[in-house]
Amino acid sequence: MTYREIRSKAAGRLRDAGIENEQAESEFLLEYACSADLNFYLLHQNDEMPQEQERIFQNLLKQRCDRIPLQHLTGEQEFMGLPFFVNENVLIPRQDTELLVEEALGYLKNKSDKENELCAFEQEQKIRVLDLCTGSGCIAVSLKKHCPEIVVTGSDLSEEALRVAERNAERNDADVMFVCSDLFSDLDGNPDGRFHLIVSNPPYIPTDVIPTLMPEVRDHEPELALDGRADGLFFYQKIIEEADRFLFSGGCLMFEIGYDQGTAVSELMREAGYTKIEVVPDLQGLDRVVKGRRLEYV
Ligand code: GLN
Repeated sequence: MTYREIRSKAAGRLRDAGIENEQAESEFLLEYACSADLNFYLLHQNDEMPQEQERIFQNLLKQRCDRIPLQHLTGEQEFMGLPFFVNENVLIPRQDTELLVEEALGYLKNKSDKENELCAFEQEQKIRVLDLCTGSGCIAVSLKKHCPEIVVTGSDLSEEALRVAERNAERNDADVMFVCSDLFSDLDGNPDGRFHLIVSNPPYIPTDVIPTLMPEVRDHEPELALDGRADGLFFYQKIIEEADRFLFSGGCLMFEIGYDQGTAVSELMREAGYTKIEVVPDLQGLDRVVKGRRLEYV
């Protein structure tokens, strides 16, 4: 069969398997299987596809029709312009999460602004950032790459996730320290170990919503990275309760949230005494980030 015939059949199979953008996906899988680009396909679409290539392609196609995420087949996802290795032990980096990184970078790069002067940022002190529930390390690594002068720690409960995060730091040549910790439990709580900024994209899907997610997410991404318990707010509550001890006075706590969690998470931060609380919408206009400052003690 020719490349064109194989691709057109593949698009049909993907569609039957419930995959929406079957044209783009069949094209991508074909190019991936042949280590080729669109130009190659356009030039050769009426040529016979070599058997060995077809075997590789059909194998990938079958897995994709079983709703294995594309990123698990290629082992990769781009995030903030950087390549990240992924497997079934980590959440695949989402474009939505780039907003959290952008907000964090805005805060870090704005050190000269008045508000940040209140943050006990001493001139010679390095800015310290913690990424809780780091998963693939995409947030921690991209913060370090885009803001090399900061000191970044990433933590996660999962040893398997940390192995992926370490691999990603190495791959992107980013000096990030990773710690295995159940939220703050194994982090150094002494005053010198405090952070100027804590960011987190914790698990936030309510348990009973998980069965309704796409099969790629529900069956192939780690439940540990998704399940935010009954109301989806469990980890926000825990982190907000404890973060105070790990932030410098005036430091910032910043979360990714689900589209309907802006009010609840803001309220939790308000109750815990945070100030300057803001909910930031993403490009689709959906609430995506909540941030607030730890009160300064005078
Ligand atoms: N945004 C992810 C999803 O929609 C969930 C991320 C999370 O729970 N932190 O699947």
